This record gives sequence, structure tokens and C-alpha cells, in this order.
Amino acid sequence: MSNFVFPPVEIPSAAVRGTEARYAVRRIFCVGRNYADHAREMGADPTREPPFYFTKPATALTPSGATVPYPTETRNYHYEMELVLALGAPVFKVTPEAAQAAIWGYATGLDMTRRDLQAAAKAAGKPWDTAKGFDQSAILGEIARVADIGRLDKGAITLAVNGVEKQHGDLADMIWNAAEIVANLSHLYHLHPGDLIYTGTPAGVGAVLPGDELVGRIEGLGEIRLIVGPAE
Ligand code: MN
Repeated sequence: MSNFVFPPVEIPSAAVRGTEARYAVRRIFCVGRNYADHAREMGADPTREPPFYFTKPATALTPSGATVPYPTETRNYHYEMELVLALGAPVFKVTPEAAQAAIWGYATGLDMTRRDLQAAAKAAGKPWDTAKGFDQSAILGEIARVADIGRLDKGAITLAVNGVEKQHGDLADMIWNAAEIVANLSHLYHLHPGDLIYTGTPAGVGAVLPGDELVGRIEGLGEIRLIVGPAE
């Protein structure tokens, strides 16, 4: 009965811990460098830079536990283990205090990256879309409600590949904390429920290959898993 020439896509959504109800995803924002040690490993100065953002399409959302094909047009496919914020209220030009109240839930996330394309884009002053916003590039664990688990301002964030730990940081070491990120982003966009924010990754990013299994953990939140399949 619809008036669309092709059927519209199913609304991307995420699992919510403790309920069958799903969290409909509207947009996916990502913070660039947000841990000092990762900023340094990428050749940047962590002390001076205000937060900056890029986005992924909501259709890039992929649930934890998935097997994703090794992406096309890269030879340097990287993981970035991150805390993800799930907003539950509209915010616009708010303070960190007001922003905190809009954070409805937290999830584990993997910001999968074609690092070689990102490096080439940086060098040429070109956009990051193909390096960051490609198909199945936004891996997401189930969302835990702040009402159930409380605020997450500290705790270990780790990522292991084939059982070997590669990333180990602490949420307390974020340059910009969750409330500050939401407040800052709210000066650039009208934010709404359904908006996800990947908050950046600690040091230790690296490449994965077909057959690798990634397991990430955030203390007080939970786990995320991803298997890299063969190239398409
Ligand atoms: Mn990232």
C-alpha cells in the first residue's frame, strides 16, 4: 500500500539488554581522536585538539557476533574498540550536565576502518567516508540502559584478537568525557533519540585478516565479538 517505487529499508536497530524491545537507530556519529595515547600513535598532539567528528550511515550497523567479509579495496583493515553512547532525549546547544541526562544507554562498539584509505585521504585532504562509513563498519553490542547500570565514566576497555590482547585503556582516560562530547556535538546538530556516538579508541589499533576473531570488553558493560570472513 506504500507509495515508494522500491520498498524502504528496514529501520536499523540495536538490541537492548533485558527487553525484547529494540532501539531504532537514526544516525551514527564518531569522535576522531579521544584518547591521548591513540592520538600520539596516529601522529597527533593530544593536548591541543578539540573533538572532531565523522559519521557512518545507520545502514552500516552490524550486531555483535556477526561474521563480516574482509572489505574490498583495502590491505589494512583495522579495529577500533570504543564505548558507544545511545541518546534518549532531544538535545540542542546544551551544557555537559544537561547532556548527561540525555544519555539513555551504553554499548560496546567496533569502529572498523580501512586504515590505508584513511591515511591516503588525510594526506590528500579528502573526506574519510570510504575509510570509515563503508558497509558493515559499525559493529555494536547490546545497549545497556543507564537506568540499569548507572553512569560509565571509568573502567577498563580492552580488545583481543584471537585471544591476544591488543588494546587496553580506561574510560577515565578519554580526553573528552561522554557528557562533554554530547554537549559539544549538540552545538553542531540537533540531537535526537536514536543517535549513537562512538567515543573514540585507546592505543593499540591494528590490522585483522580473514579468520580472525575479535573480542572487546568494557568493564561494567559487557562484550562485543566479531569474526572476519573471507573477502567477497
Ligand atoms: Mn574510532
